Amino acid sequence: MNTVIDMRLYNTLTRKVEEFIPNEEGKVKLYTCGPTVYHYAHIGNIRNYIGHDILDKTLRYLGYEVTRAMNITDVGHLTSDSDSGEDKMMKAAEREHKSAMEVAKFYTDAFFTDFKKVNCRMPEIVSPATENIDMYIKIITKLLDDGYAYVSGGNVYFDISKLDDYYKLTNHKIDEMVVGVRESVEEDLAKKNQADFALWFTTSKFEHHELLWDSPWGKGYPGWHIECSGISIRYLGEYLDIHGGGVDNIFPHHTNEIAQSESYLGHKWCNYWFHNEHLLDESGKMSKSKGAVLTVSVLEEKGYDPLCYRYLCLKSCYRNALTFSYEILDSTSNEFRKLKNKTLSLKEEGSLDKEKYDKYINKFKEALSDDLNTSMAITILYEVLKDNDLNGKTKMEIIKSYDEVLSLDLFIEKNNVDEDLEKYIMEKIKERNEAKLNKDFKLADSIRDELLSKNIVLKDGREGTTFEVIK
Ligand code: AMP
Ligand code: ZN
Repeated sequence: MNTVIDMRLYNTLTRKVEEFIPNEEGKVKLYTCGPTVYHYAHIGNIRNYIGHDILDKTLRYLGYEVTRAMNITDVGHLTSDSDSGEDKMMKAAEREHKSAMEVAKFYTDAFFTDFKKVNCRMPEIVSPATENIDMYIKIITKLLDDGYAYVSGGNVYFDISKLDDYYKLTNHKIDEMVVGVRESVEEDLAKKNQADFALWFTTSKFEHHELLWDSPWGKGYPGWHIECSGISIRYLGEYLDIHGGGVDNIFPHHTNEIAQSESYLGHKWCNYWFHNEHLLDESGKMSKSKGAVLTVSVLEEKGYDPLCYRYLCLKSCYRNALTFSYEILDSTSNEFRKLKNKTLSLKEEGSLDKEKYDKYINKFKEALSDDLNTSMAITILYEVLKDNDLNGKTKMEIIKSYDEVLSLDLFIEKNNVDEDLEKYIMEKIKERNEAKLNKDFKLADSIRDELLSKNIVLKDGREGTTFEVIK
């Protein structure tokens, strides 16, 4: 183990920045909530995964051995985060005239395409909720045996009155949080306390639910919260170091995960709770239900480098809300291009100055270990570029090392196209679009072929045409 600098992390559970001490020296068990695959992941969701990726990579960079697990929610997440509404997967299946599993497959693939475009590292374990039903049944059976859960109206519920500290993760007043008191939440007469939550559903107002499994309580499907407890305990064991998610997951999702996991295990489960703030648009929190979904792929189709979006996220603190606009993305894009021009023009001159190298690596580690201060880490990157006392070789080695965490591909040239060629291609794309509008497909095809003969491939996407130059 070669941890150089200790990590300090904001812990939602204690509401302060704390020194991070894992259960086992040098090793970290990390669980992060994954996507609900009923639609594309928008760039807000992706901000959340970039935050988890930075946490994961920083821990590794500091010398920890990290094992990370992430779920894929393909059943049980209802249209309301409480226990009402239809399963999001079933609603999507209806919308798209597909089976729920076809929907899950399509959006899981789309999710990982965008996840990789922003250079997020694949967790060691990625597990769909539907593959762990036996684990949920095991946990729920014990919760019933130990008196933490009850069967009512065909469903199994967790009885929150059995816990003194059910609300320990959230600092909201109990009255505000109780389901049934909040607006838009229907009262469920089967529940003993309105804040109790479903572990297993056998009854549903929606008869066509196609994802059903046999259980001791009848044919049914799991609640949303039990999947993360089940997958985490199955793959990472009884003691978790860090659990991550977005701030909207604090209640009810993570509150319920703690309740059921600790009641099942009989001891404290997870020591550090890590939450990312949201991405906002002009009308507030970006969400999948707000019409057209703005994805990383859509940004790419509009001509933005997905890593420019990653850069935008890293320039702000994960604990602050970030407002997205195309004006901000445009200026970030210019800044990112200039940054890459600088890194790409570095020359491997001189020999490595180990002392200066170590100084800058430690500075970078200090910034990241200070509750993931990525904007400071980027400031240090610019300092390296400006430092006249560093030779080319040393600058390159330092920045290569930084890029293990930042993952901005600072030494990879994409579409190395000079301005004149880019102007020419954009003109041709415009001409081709006009031809298509005039239904002159012959002309449109000939423009595409003309570019292809020059090794320029056009790609038509949902939001327009982009190009790639093949080497
Ligand atoms: P979902 O796929 O809907 O389950 O959401 C996946 C993750 O994205 C959750 O952990 C949410 O907390 C997070 N999330 C949802 N909306 C936003 C947003 N606008 N900005 C950042 N994260 C978000
Ligand atoms: Zn979760």
